[in-house]
Amino acid sequence: MLLRQCREACGRADTTDQHLYGQVPFGWRPLVISSTKETIVGTSLDLFNQVFPDDAACLRHVFDMRFGQGHPCPKCGRPARWSRRKGRSCFTARCCSNAEIYPLAGTLFGHSRLPLRDLFLVLLHFTNSKVGFSASLTRRLLGISHPAAFTLCDRIRCHLAMLTGRNRIGGPGQQVFIDEALLRGVLTTGNRPNKASLVALCTRQDLLTAIVPDRRAATLVALIEHVVRPGSILVTDGFAGYRGLHRRGWHHEVVNHHRRIWVNSNGACQAQVETYWWHLKRTLRLTYLRIDRENAWKYINAFNFVYNRRTRSRETFWDAVSHFPAFPDDPRAYLEMDLELGLMPALQLDEGH
Ligand SMILES: [Zn+2]
Repeated sequence: MLLRQCREACGRADTTDQHLYGQVPFGWRPLVISSTKETIVGTSLDLFNQVFPDDAACLRHVFDMRFGQGHPCPKCGRPARWSRRKGRSCFTARCCSNAEIYPLAGTLFGHSRLPLRDLFLVLLHFTNSKVGFSASLTRRLLGISHPAAFTLCDRIRCHLAMLTGRNRIGGPGQQVFIDEALLRGVLTTGNRPNKASLVALCTRQDLLTAIVPDRRAATLVALIEHVVRPGSILVTDGFAGYRGLHRRGWHHEVVNHHRRIWVNSNGACQAQVETYWWHLKRTLRLTYLRIDRENAWKYINAFNFVYNRRTRSRETFWDAVSHFPAFPDDPRAYLEMDLELGLMPALQLDEGH
């Protein structure tokens, strides 16, 4: 019964309660997510067990999210009725028996031989945990080898990172808090320094973190002009790299921490972005101990995916399973935020939202 309710509620991108985050439509929610019964909340194992009792339910869910009934048949082109083929992880169209869709192909689950429900379960733990979820925990939870657990976690982090919006932030009159930080102790190859420079840009709703090659003024200004909408009010500390912003026509509020000023004369402060650093740095240090420089963007953006939903955490898991973007063969190609990889000019930003 519950499952049927959930499936009925499972409209795809056109549900009425959907909202946009980044370029990704979210919004699939089981009906019971708003239940007042305390044991059934959006994040509970109880609800998870009811909505996803077995692998078949998970597979059908992925199919519904990616294709859905009425998806055109690839052979004849007409809207088709799709049904699961027994014993295989594919769906066939009723009109043409040889028309098949493998819902998991090309998603983060595409390469795994583990039971699909186990993968969903790890995703639930990932999204329920505010401080990340490590490969060691996954290994113990599923009873698999460490390399298998690491690969799974890496793919999940990449999935969450891809779902994290890459929209421009701010807007006329909106405050955008900007701060830079140095992440020490990252693993690198060759003689590259074992640290990464990060810049966080956040508004009261959105947050975006970029890994930058250095903290020179030219880099910071180029980043800000790329990701912040014109007309925003930039709030930074007194770091020299931000000095040119005023000349370039930005409304720039400075909170000079060196002079022990925490709230400036116009009431601007950086508490929001400082809190973010506090949580991010502790998560990276305590849960993951050391992270790989090449994969740092996945850890940071997967953290951001959960962090951005901290006030509506019961929706986090359902957002993570409401959209399955095509998993890139080389995930780095998907990363447009990493200046050091020289991909910044390719940053595609959605102006619409
Ligand atoms: Zn057909």
